[in-house]
Amino acid sequence: MKLRYRRVTLPLLHPFTIATGTSTERNDVLVAVEHGGVVGCGEAAPSRGYGQSADSVVEALPRLAAALGDDPFAFEVNADRLLAAARGQYAAVAAIDGALHDLAGRLAGLPTWRRLGVSPGRMPVTSFTIGIDEIGVIERKVAEAAAWPLLKIKLGTPDDERIIQAVRRCTDAPLRVDANMGWDLERARQMCRFLADHNVEMVEQPLPRGQEDQLADLHADSPLPIYVDESCHHAADVVRLAGCVDGVNLKLSKAGGVTAGLRFIHAARAAGLKVMIGCMVQSSVGIAAGAQLAPLCDLADLDGHVLLARDAATGLDCRDGRLLLTDAPGQGVTLRDDLADPSGWTVVQ
Ligand SMILES: [Mg+2]
Repeated sequence: MKLRYRRVTLPLLHPFTIATGTSTERNDVLVAVEHGGVVGCGEAAPSRGYGQSADSVVEALPRLAAALGDDPFAFEVNADRLLAAARGQYAAVAAIDGALHDLAGRLAGLPTWRRLGVSPGRMPVTSFTIGIDEIGVIERKVAEAAAWPLLKIKLGTPDDERIIQAVRRCTDAPLRVDANMGWDLERARQMCRFLADHNVEMVEQPLPRGQEDQLADLHADSPLPIYVDESCHHAADVVRLAGCVDGVNLKLSKAGGVTAGLRFIHAARAAGLKVMIGCMVQSSVGIAAGAQLAPLCDLADLDGHVLLARDAATGLDCRDGRLLLTDAPGQGVTLRDDLADPSGWTVVQ
């Protein structure tokens, strides 16, 4: 199999702030895998918080490409080899694994969801995310998001109550909250009680990563379901969280792609946990890979591409808050012409 990549800068529609920082653009890496004249595409959306960058992705690609076998349909073997060679570069692994699933679908003439036996009729509504901002800006963003049936509000600031009160002045829509590790145990307890009175349906990552031993205490008397994201990357993390939380947030760039994502979902089900499928702020190349698994999950948070000023691909549409899985082969998205131009790609092998 031949592998090539190109870097892509994706400007955001608005600066996006969460408890751990602000971003105005994403620097991602598109990966293409070719076999028998057919090409599949994936996206690496690296996260600084996890020791990843576009540079570290590009640096990892030759090592990961060398680990790949010759059979694009040998997902489990390829995933084992890629994960063993990852050295923390799971966004790069996710890009290659996503490209393999896209490629296999195109070779088979089947959409990835159908090849995996997933039912698109079970697609959950995806939330639309409102980042941390001045109260007036948050109110404007909530008004602009009126078409979305479900909002996810980023918190983890001293002003969290004021933010929720402002959102509630603008909408009665159900809300989810993501604190992105911004609270300690006492603040989390206090906030869960406050949020339960404001039609909030769940709370994500209330405590810092590394403080998982406090989650069971919080979970025991929380009026709201508790999910974790930064605390849970892989199937092995899922097992340790059984009984301590209600659910876990699967992101393909944390877990290492669609194949690792399936393992994560099965581990969560075996542990009695709910699954949310989330994403980075990234293009619809990566979001489409997650969308293939979304009907296997309880909650979806797959709006990363909608937060961009300009997407890298077309083909992933949304109706009434649900991403649409089509009959197009593979992940069902097509790169923009300027990005598909072969001159912008670097051959790895
Ligand atoms: Mg999160």
